[in-house]
Amino acid sequence: MMTASKAVVPDTLVVDGLGLANQLRDEMAKEVEQLVASGHRPPQLTVVLVGDDPASRSYIKGKQRACARIGADSAEFILPESTSQDELLALLDRLNHDDGVDAILVQLPLPRHIKASTIAEAIAPEKDADALHPLNFGRLLLGTAQLISCTPLGVMAVLAHHQVPIEGAHAVVIGRSNIVGKPVSLLLQQHNATVTMCHSRTRDLAGICRTADILIAAAGNPNMVKGDWIRPGAVVIDVGVAEVDGQLVGDVDFEAAQGVASIITPSRRGIGPMTITMLLRNTLIAYKSRKKL
Ligand code: NAD
Repeated sequence: MMTASKAVVPDTLVVDGLGLANQLRDEMAKEVEQLVASGHRPPQLTVVLVGDDPASRSYIKGKQRACARIGADSAEFILPESTSQDELLALLDRLNHDDGVDAILVQLPLPRHIKASTIAEAIAPEKDADALHPLNFGRLLLGTAQLISCTPLGVMAVLAHHQVPIEGAHAVVIGRSNIVGKPVSLLLQQHNATVTMCHSRTRDLAGICRTADILIAAAGNPNMVKGDWIRPGAVVIDVGVAEVDGQLVGDVDFEAAQGVASIITPSRRGIGPMTITMLLRNTLIAYKSRKKL
């Protein structure tokens, strides 16, 4: 068994996800400014939250602030936990037919009495900010998608920014959710990586991770990836976020990865800001395609 020793890489580059996100948001703000200057209304994102989860509330506030930052409009619908699935479907139908709404996001998780897959199918595919509608997912599979899930897009943008060679690389993805693991695996494969998608039933996860040139951790299991799971020089993208003793902790043991990974994303200011930035990207794409701009 190959084990990674400490400090085999002189300096691990810690990705500045917030810096990159701000750079991309500046570019989008300029584009929106030009569109508005030429007489168009700003793009609009509508966010729907069912229930009163404080974390979800803070996420949607962050999304609205990000919209304002690029000159886009946003609206929120905060519905009580007791909202029925039919009531939510009726609201989505109204938003689907509202010409002033370009993109719709229903904040997850939803209460247990509402089926997330039914809601994903009820959002008009052309306004589907999180790209969870089966049509957008199918297009991703075919390689023709315009709207793609935000976190996987954020991961790909980080890899592109740091010019990480993807073609021919072995990419290992931990997690197979519809929102992260599956779409990021498809995107990596479309960029000609050889992809291994791992999950909670995978045997010898550590051994598979040790063969990764690019390791994407999206399990939601704090500090699961140990230093000796990382191949020296590998690029490590930590998508996982969990709160442990009031601290944000990723899926990767960040300290142990220092001096082993060549590049790593931190749990704060890593993939999180990039995810929100890609939500803005999707809003802009939905707006331009609806307005035929
Ligand atoms: P999920 O719970 O839907 O899926 C987790 C996946 O990880 C599953 O496929 C499961 O099989 C796998 N998994 C869980 N434990 C495992 C283990 N011990 N070994 C191997 N595989 C394991 O979660 P999700 O929505 O995909 O999110 C994953 C993580 O990413 C969470 O921590 C979430 O908070 C975080 N997340 C962060 C952002 C961001 O913007 N930073 C966005 C989305 C999700």
